[in-house]
Amino acid sequence: MTEHDQELPSQHQQECHSEPNLSHTENEQEKPRERRTTAYERLSHDLSNDKRCLKEITLGKRIGFYRIRGELGSGNFSQVKLGIHALTKEKVAIKILDKTKLDQKTQRLLSREISSMERLHHPNVIRLYEVVETLAKLHIIMEYANGGELFTKISNEGRLPESEAKALFAQIVSAVNHMHENHIIHRDMKAENVLFVSQKVIKVGDFGFSTFAKADQTLNTFCGSPPYAAPELFKDESYFGPYVDIWALGILLYFMVTGIMPFRAETVAKLKKCILDGMYNIPSYVSDSCQFLIRSILKPVPTDRYTIQEMTNSDFLEAEEFPCAFEPYLSKPSIETVDLKDDEREARKMLIDLGITDDHFKSAHNKDSRSSITGTYRIVLHKIQKRNSQQELEDENPDFMANGKENQVPPNQVAFPDKPRSKLCTIL
Ligand code: ADP
Repeated sequence: MTEHDQELPSQHQQECHSEPNLSHTENEQEKPRERRTTAYERLSHDLSNDKRCLKEITLGKRIGFYRIRGELGSGNFSQVKLGIHALTKEKVAIKILDKTKLDQKTQRLLSREISSMERLHHPNVIRLYEVVETLAKLHIIMEYANGGELFTKISNEGRLPESEAKALFAQIVSAVNHMHENHIIHRDMKAENVLFVSQKVIKVGDFGFSTFAKADQTLNTFCGSPPYAAPELFKDESYFGPYVDIWALGILLYFMVTGIMPFRAETVAKLKKCILDGMYNIPSYVSDSCQFLIRSILKPVPTDRYTIQEMTNSDFLEAEEFPCAFEPYLSKPSIETVDLKDDEREARKMLIDLGITDDHFKSAHNKDSRSSITGTYRIVLHKIQKRNSQQELEDENPDFMANGKENQVPPNQVAFPDKPRSKLCTIL
């Protein structure tokens, strides 16, 4: 029995979602009025009865509540496809992995990828919605970033103007700060893992090498891409995670403002030597404040490197906004309604309007990400949170919409009216 079987409503109406049933109106006067089927009931019914749906499931064009569309990209062990959530019509990215090809080490990395993403709730971090497992495959359903990779943009169009680089880098720094506050080390920060959702907003993704580590805990697995690797990864047996992410941020900033990498070589052995020697040049067109920040990050001794706080206070990032994390939220729909925040209450109501009842919430309760009810809840809640943070911004800055910039959604900016504004939001 699959999870979806268990979550099906107990009474299915014999009505197909794809073909409207006219018999209700024809016989309206003779028959007592039937209760309208809910969107959830129709979908559940179609998933187990509708021929077209069943065929799509067999052909791998549908998984759980998602219709699978074109390919978005591919990784070492995965294919990433576009999906559409049947109830909310929200676009999602679906990372598909063939379970039979995963060795133990990859399985471990994968489960960390899932749990890292689950812990994070930041406007510049790709959100995890759901995990759907079949006999042969694992599907990680996550927020969709439709604008492509930062790497592709710079490779095609060249270096970024510093004004653009600053705004994007501030978002990346905020995202990494949020990870570190939650004791998550990304270990693969690079331009390929920064995805655009609009011209001015990015999301950090690919937590495939991430791990948990408290600030004083050492790690000993070499991860990530060699050009972004900190010198201690090549010479020491163990390292402190946060410093390695910070080094990678320095390399990334260099790449953003120059379009080239600070350490380049034909082989990994030569690259290693370059990084250990620590010799690199910064082109003279790079502003003094940016050069200073890069040099303050790319220090050979980990503890000499700028901290995230120091980066945010640097002259280069002086005028930038650092997006705040979303408030911690319940990651699955709650049966209790007493202590819910407004966003959670609204998400719960939307689910009820779709036909998802308290009984369904209960059935989802112990399944964490592996529930289509929880997946639907997270999609709806995230949409509400994004809408509200956008609203907050418009309230603060009424000219924003008037300028006709509604498609260039700027980052979530939060004001601190009663205290001096901290440029870097802290997580409560
Ligand atoms: P792997 O970890 O196996 O290398 P990635 O997570 O890097 O896989 O994904 C491979 C590619 O799929 C990415 O380079 C990107 O182009 C695309 N992709 C991944 N996640 C998303 C997403 N959330 N939205 C849009 N495209 C994505």
